[in-house]
Amino acid sequence: AKSAGGAGLAAYDPQMLSGLLQRLELEADLRLALERNELALHYQPTVDLRTGTIIGFEALVRWHHPTRGMVSPMDFIGIAEATGLIVPMGRWVLAEACRQAVAWGAGSSRRLKMSVNVSVRQFEHGDLSATVAEVLAETGLPVDQLCLEMTESVLLTDTDENLTQLQRLKALGVTLAMDDFGTGYSSLAYLRRYPMDILKIDRSFVDRLGGDREDEALVRTIVRLGKSLGMTTVAEGIEDNVQLAALRALDCDVAQGYLLSRPLPAAEAGRILAEGLAA
Ligand code: C2E
Ligand code: CA
Ligand code: CA
Ligand code: CA
Repeated sequence: AKSAGGAGLAAYDPQMLSGLLQRLELEADLRLALERNELALHYQPTVDLRTGTIIGFEALVRWHHPTRGMVSPMDFIGIAEATGLIVPMGRWVLAEACRQAVAWGAGSSRRLKMSVNVSVRQFEHGDLSATVAEVLAETGLPVDQLCLEMTESVLLTDTDENLTQLQRLKALGVTLAMDDFGTGYSSLAYLRRYPMDILKIDRSFVDRLGGDREDEALVRTIVRLGKSLGMTTVAEGIEDNVQLAALRALDCDVAQGYLLSRPLPAAEAGRILAEGLAA
């Protein structure tokens, strides 16, 4: 065996070790989080940029840790993916979001679109399209109200398997959205090859809107690209009115961001659904 030295030394860095221990602890806690009912979903409205009406919600998972308080998905999705916990967790998220969409739809003629984030690991473990079909049957959500958001990683790994899964989801009637568009590197080729319906322009592009002409040109190009491929374009991370106006002028279809509403617990989201947005 190799003696402690070289890269092995890093394990003795006390900061790194405590980081590792924290991660292990979090991992152990995450295993119990589902059973203990510590996970919840918050919902951020998606808004038609032309009419200003809420057309749906993106479900975002939250973890209320008994001692650490609210843990951000940025801090636990990675662990859930690495351990495979994302598979049961993802199923729970999907079912909970569908149940909520059914509840909001009851007694209303509105066909809200519920968007759920799926990880590449959910494609790799088992049959995602079968899981989705099961959950739709269990909850009674009409398939045209479900949208699955995924990043390019789904298109970059296990390509043939994932393509088959995407085609099955598509055949079911699920809407497919490419999340964080523009942050990957082979976006164009993949967009043409895969049956995606929605293109979500990454927040980093929206962030830069307002000042610079070149940044505006970039977003315009992405919107046109999406449209030329017959996709609906969604801008995420809109934080001010300058960005909102710019996106409207660029003829982007759908808006999402703190300016319109932060992600909210179900009860509050239901309230703004009934009352409309202030803006
Ligand atoms: P995402 O899918 O890109 O989700 C958008 C993130 O941007 C959310 O962070 C949302 O709260 C945040 N956001 C929305 N509007 C604004 C804005 O105007 N400004 C800024 N600065 N941020 C805004 P959140 O909820 O912390 O989620 C982070 C990421 O964690 C998500 O990014 C997604 O990749 C992942 N995630 C969240 N929920 C789930 C889930 O149920 N399953 C999976 N697989 N991943 C999830
Ligand atoms: Ca998303
Ligand atoms: Ca995103
Ligand atoms: Ca993201």
